[in-house]
Amino acid sequence: MAARLIELPDEAHRTAGEVVGFDLTVTVLLAGTPTPTPARWGTAILVRSSTSAVLVDTGPGTTRRLVEAGLGPTDVDAVVFTHHHFDHTAGFPGFFLSRWDQGAGLIDELSICGPPPTTGFVRKLFGRDVGAFWPDLNARMEAPASHAVFLNRGGELPRLPPEPEVRDVHPDQPFTIGDIEFLPGLARHVQPYLDCNAYRITAGSSSVVYTGDTEPCDEVVELSRGADVLISMCWDEEGVMAANGEATGQTGTLGAARMARDAGVDDLVLTHIGPSISAGIHEGELGAMASIHRGSIHQAVEGWTFGV
Ligand SMILES: [Zn+2]
Repeated sequence: MAARLIELPDEAHRTAGEVVGFDLTVTVLLAGTPTPTPARWGTAILVRSSTSAVLVDTGPGTTRRLVEAGLGPTDVDAVVFTHHHFDHTAGFPGFFLSRWDQGAGLIDELSICGPPPTTGFVRKLFGRDVGAFWPDLNARMEAPASHAVFLNRGGELPRLPPEPEVRDVHPDQPFTIGDIEFLPGLARHVQPYLDCNAYRITAGSSSVVYTGDTEPCDEVVELSRGADVLISMCWDEEGVMAANGEATGQTGTLGAARMARDAGVDDLVLTHIGPSISAGIHEGELGAMASIHRGSIHQAVEGWTFGV
């Protein structure tokens, strides 16, 4: 299969919804881990088709990166979680509240999907009377000062609370958001403490697989078979992970290369890049990866957009 990942210049993705010429575009909003570094913290990607825009994971800083990419919260139709570690979810409350606030009742409700406990997570954040942010929502619905801002944004009173459509989703049970199909697959990470999904994401004739957090496993390889792009977590160089006891439940450099090779995917994009390789993977390790995976290897930079 010919490589199909095409890097888009900045000006091509600074216009909201610009996906001309591709069935799918992917913007890597966050490419890090729980460890904050100057270049990376947390994980989030934005997947866009001609009809829909979906955030997959919402690490800390997601909304700021979204705005830097020329978009805003109201441009997003849905959020899909891989799992409920904070480096994948801590940016969600700010995103959700900003979308509701800026939307002024004029946009569709947000769709939210993820493995359990996604429905409980959303209820505990925003549920009537019980949500941690309910007092904020209630104040914005009731205070005259907030009404003025709401009306000036085009809203009509009474101001109503958000009513997102929330679903827990499970491996091998596909779902769609607009014209984008999501096929969840098992990601082997920190079970049984958290359920974890990888996703094969398809629109038109294009498909990418986003591993979320997983150790290399047959399930993710099968999910990725024949996809155009594999977007894989990459915690560290493989030898370092083995030496310091961090190889379980996570993928490193060589494991990512093996999964791409075994799945027959030409283009490998590394994200969720750990702190010790955030400034770059050593040449020798890249050479070892290239001897395993003959296709392209990209180390994602936050803000980078590519078309598939
Ligand atoms: Zn995790």
